[in-house]
Formats: sequence, C-alpha cells, structure tokens
Amino acid sequence: MKLYPTIGLEIHAELTTNSKVFCTCSAQFGGEPNSRCCPVCSGLPGTLPVLNAKAVEYIIKAGYIMNCDISRFTKWDRKNYFYPDLPKAYQISQMPRPVCLGGHVNVEVDGETRTMRINRIHLEEDAGKLVHDDSMRVSLADYNRCGIPLIEIVTEPDFHSAAEVVAFFEKIRLMLQYAGVCDGRLEQGSMRCDVNISLAEKNFDTLGTRTEVKNLNSLRSIQRAIEYEIYRQTELIENGERVVQETLHFNDATGETSSLRSKEDAHDYRYFPDPDIPPIIFTEEELAAIKADIPEMPEMRVKRYTEQYGISAADAKILTDTKSISDFFESAVKAYNAPKAIGTFIVVELMRRINLGEISAEDMTLDPADFAHLIELAETGKISKDSRKIILRDMIDGKTAERSAEDNNLWIKEDNELLEKTIDEIMAANPKAVEQYRNGETKVFGFLMGQCGKALKGAAAPASIKTMLEQKLKQ
Ligand SMILES: [Zn+2]
Repeated sequence: MKLYPTIGLEIHAELTTNSKVFCTCSAQFGGEPNSRCCPVCSGLPGTLPVLNAKAVEYIIKAGYIMNCDISRFTKWDRKNYFYPDLPKAYQISQMPRPVCLGGHVNVEVDGETRTMRINRIHLEEDAGKLVHDDSMRVSLADYNRCGIPLIEIVTEPDFHSAAEVVAFFEKIRLMLQYAGVCDGRLEQGSMRCDVNISLAEKNFDTLGTRTEVKNLNSLRSIQRAIEYEIYRQTELIENGERVVQETLHFNDATGETSSLRSKEDAHDYRYFPDPDIPPIIFTEEELAAIKADIPEMPEMRVKRYTEQYGISAADAKILTDTKSISDFFESAVKAYNAPKAIGTFIVVELMRRINLGEISAEDMTLDPADFAHLIELAETGKISKDSRKIILRDMIDGKTAERSAEDNNLWIKEDNELLEKTIDEIMAANPKAVEQYRNGETKVFGFLMGQCGKALKGAAAPASIKTMLEQKLKQ
C-alpha cells in the first residue's frame, strides 16, 4: 500500500519591533531573566494592554508579501489556557477576524514551481520561557519573551514532502527578513514551525488522522521530524494499528517524536473577544501607505541584478539568498559603480571566506565602501586582480585595502616616461592607424592599445595606457 503524506504548517515569527506588542518593555532577544517585564506583560490584574501600532504595520507587510487579503476590520480575542510560561492564563490572539486572510507563495522544488496557499496570518503575543534544571529538580520561568509580538502563518495542507516544507520555510524566512519585519534568527527562536502530518492513499478523498509536531526551530529538525513521522505513521497503518490524533515533541538527540498531549480543538480554549483592545478599521489610505513602504523582495533583486547589471542568474541567486550579503553588495555598488566586478568577487572570494568561517555573513564586519575600493584598485590597474585575494584576507583582519596594498608591496609601479616613449613609438610606427582614428574611425583604437600593451609587457596598467593613448591621439 503506497501512502501519501499531506502536510500543513503553522509558522510563528517574532516581529522585530523595538517594544513588545502590548507594553513598552524591550522586545529584544535575551537579557537577564525577568529584566524586561512590567505589570502588563507579566499579567498582573488591573493592567491594561495598549496595542503597538508598529506590530500591526509589520503583520500587514507580511500579509502583502504573501499575497494575502488584508481585513478592513480586525479584532483581538483571548485564548484561555493555563501554563506556567503564560502568567495571565490567556494569550491575546485573533480567532475569527485575523489581519490577513488567504494568500499564496510560490516555491521551487526540484526545478518545479509550486504554489502553496496561505489560510491566514494573525497577530498574537509570545509566551515566556521555562528552563528545566534537572540537577536542582526545579523549573524556572523567564518572562522576558512574554508579550513579544508574534505572527502565526497558517498554511493550507498543500505540502506532500519534507523538501517542499523546507523550501517554503526558507522562502518565507528570507521574505520576512527582506521586508524588515522578522530577523529570521532560528538559533534565537525567532521562527518556529508546527507541522501537521497525515497519511492517506493517493487521491483518497478523506485524509488520515493527523498528528502535530510542535516547535521545530531549524531546517534540519523540520526535515527529520517530518521524515520520522511519515515512517512512524506508515508502520502503524501497515501493522493495522490506528494513528492517534495528538501533539508531539521532536527530540533532536534521538530523531524521534514523543507524545506531549492529546490534541485540543479550538473550542477547548474558550475564545472570546478581548474587551481591553478595541477592534481596528483600516482605511484604504493607511493600507496603501504601508504597502508602498515594503522594500524590494529577493525575487525583484534577482531580476534587477540579471537584467540591469548583467550578473548571471546563478550568481544573482547566491547574492540575494542571504539578506546581509545582498545589502552589503548594494552598499558597495553605491560606493563604486561596478556591479558585475563587485558581485563576481563576492560570489567567488568573499563567500568562500564566509564558508571557511573566517568572517560571518550575518554580522559582516567589512566596510562595503572599502570593499568597493579594493575592486576599484584592481579595475583601474593600481593593483593586479590576483592581489585582491591577499588584500581581502587582510581586510578581514581589520586592515584597509590601501594599507594592505602598501604593506604587501602590491602597487603596480608605473614608469610614466617609458609609457610615454612607448606610445610615441607605436604612433610613429603606425601613422595610417593614427590618421584613421583622427578621421573618426575609432575602432582602430583597440589595435593601437594592443600594440602598446605588447611593447610594454605589463610595465603599465591597461587603464593608464588607455588614458595616455587617448590624450595623445586627440592632440
Ligand atoms: Zn511589559
């Protein structure tokens, strides 16, 4: 019996607002435990939450980049449950009227484009963190994360393999980073994925019983958890046993899932409208202003790099696949307008250094203007192209490009007298070509350049020959 997996996702992404979603506490990652809390986010009675407008703007941007409809009327609900990381005993979330409805994102898997539908995106608050200390047999609660704004992206069950899920998750992560609404730092838990999986025979109308694996926070654990669940459920079904609807935890060490609790349904949470937070009605003008403020998405950058800059599609993809690299490239091109030379050197040499672990792409310490200057030195013949690698190595260690060229004696020394004498000789030996040039047949310039280059045997940079030859021909 061939069983066919069907997978749906709930992706949580923390928004990069300065303050939390209902109070003014810092929403930054980390901090001493319980140092970023106030009566509102630690759930004391009698406090009143005030909605962070920036968080609303960010979820609308997230909605637009995923092609969602933005609700003109939206409101907040209380999701009631008790857990020690949630001191209020309810989470402020959105049930019937989320900010974003519908939507879709295209992903490339095995060279094919597939459209994955989004069901909804809603805004809610994050819970705190529990730290379990086995040696002291205690559990400690850190409420710094309580109230950090979170969007939950709920997809339709459009996925049928781990590869599709991973491609989608990576794409969403990159788009949210480009939109400037989520930093996508998986190691800090900025994005987490819940995966719903069921198996059924292909083209079978009814889906099998589904399980949900909670809180996967790396691409690798998403992949492994899905593969394990497909294997586990297949075994159960083939042995004539039943898949139980439940919530599972994935253990990274064993690569297996285990039961957390039997699955609740929405009605178990006793959702009701939050009386403290008024609904929002958006005007068309407000939405248009937010939409106009969305930065260029990675796909648009790829298009610009290939069409305007003449960079190959493969290189454009490498440049845009990490936002910090693409931003670095943009800044370098602003400093020295040679996108192709800069892009190629990033892909060939800087990425190699990053992959060797010599420098971090996320926390880039190189100055893009000085990096651009390095390319300029080579393009204008002040140094050789091969010297760029040596100089880049020094720049990673904190030197400027000029300093490194000086210290390593990499300047191409030019003898201007020799240059001038050689050009004069070549011009004297080729009077016909000189005359042709002066009569407007500029294509002979290449021939004269070639003759000078040959005679000088590398003693002068092509750019210097070009400049002086042009001057002399125009006299
Ligand atoms: Zn607070």
